[in-house]
Amino acid sequence: MLDHIRQSLDRIAEKDRMRALKVAQLADGGRIMRDGRELLDLSSNDYLGLARHPLLTETAANFAREYGAGSGASRLITGTSAAHETVDARIAAFKGTETALVMASGWQANAGIIPALAKAAPTTAIFADELVHNSIHAGCRAARADVHFYAHNDAEDLERLLTTRGAGVDARIIITESCFSMDGDLADLPALNALADKHGALLYVDEAHATGVLGRGGAGLTADHAGAALVMGTFSKALGGFGAYVACSALLRDYLVNMCPGLIFSTAPPPAVLGAMSAALELVPTMDGERAHLAKLSQRMRDGLQGLGYDTLGSASQIVPLVVGSEKDALALGEHLLEAGIAGLPIRPPTVPKGTSRIRLALRSTLSSEDVDLVLDCVSTWRR
Ligand SMILES: *Cc1c(COP(=O)(O)O)cnc(C)c1O
Repeated sequence: MLDHIRQSLDRIAEKDRMRALKVAQLADGGRIMRDGRELLDLSSNDYLGLARHPLLTETAANFAREYGAGSGASRLITGTSAAHETVDARIAAFKGTETALVMASGWQANAGIIPALAKAAPTTAIFADELVHNSIHAGCRAARADVHFYAHNDAEDLERLLTTRGAGVDARIIITESCFSMDGDLADLPALNALADKHGALLYVDEAHATGVLGRGGAGLTADHAGAALVMGTFSKALGGFGAYVACSALLRDYLVNMCPGLIFSTAPPPAVLGAMSAALELVPTMDGERAHLAKLSQRMRDGLQGLGYDTLGSASQIVPLVVGSEKDALALGEHLLEAGIAGLPIRPPTVPKGTSRIRLALRSTLSSEDVDLVLDCVSTWRR
């Protein structure tokens, strides 16, 4: 076994796809400390700078002092405290849904909810956008269901699959992200809502990157385009903390409480995490100014990169891909940025499709226009 493991790692290295963990520490002003240097942070997902916000850190500490370090059991046994119920209710109010449930992580939510849903009917077909996150792939693989991937953001391809592959099954689920994690483009939710209605499918939307940043009051794109039966999102990105939520009807909530393994067999999120969630839910609706600034920075970055001749794909959010193509070029550009004090880390396959290795630039409301211009200058010298 160990020989195979060594050979596996060798093959990864040969393809310039070797990855390793590096110590980093978020700092103020959109900066990050890495290898003893302060870098401009365009790689973390702390889009609103909430990870170090005093209201989050203090509320987290207060919750820990008051309620303890752990929750003691899964939510189904004794792990649901009054604080969990309060946060559940606040998420439902934030998302405009009947109910919500706090879960341990977004990865765990997708990996557990999808197979749980697919179990409800004798036969289920899942239709997922080809660019969905790894955790959705994990959920689809674990589900006893036929899984069909439609061309990215292509409603026509989805309709073709629903018609040809969706007719002979008992139930259908459509899965998309609202803001795609690696391309930063947005799903056409009205079109997906219409297709879900027409074909009797349940629409499942992952708002990991939209929550806090997009939609009315930062409540995500489903807040502007209602219709999805089930919306999940995370507290780990713009909301600055950790953990996930699912927002849905009381019917679906009851079903998940009975059928979702990640909820039933995993310990409930601890008090400190709930404290940070609670503080983020208080702050996020008031941050329209930060969201407008972030949108402006993102547009400036896209305009600048396109002016330099780079493809930013369909980016329409704070995530701006700078696509260079090969793994080698992405690594080299990442190094060039690092030398200039910029953390713009290369993203390579299998995270993104082959030939689309990129620097994924994640803008943050704590950056300035000058910061964006610094990145553009640096990319420009690289281009030359
Ligand atoms: C990050 C991410 C997740 C996982 O969320 P965590 O809370 O970090 O586990 C799920 N879906 C998408 C689209 C993501 O980008």
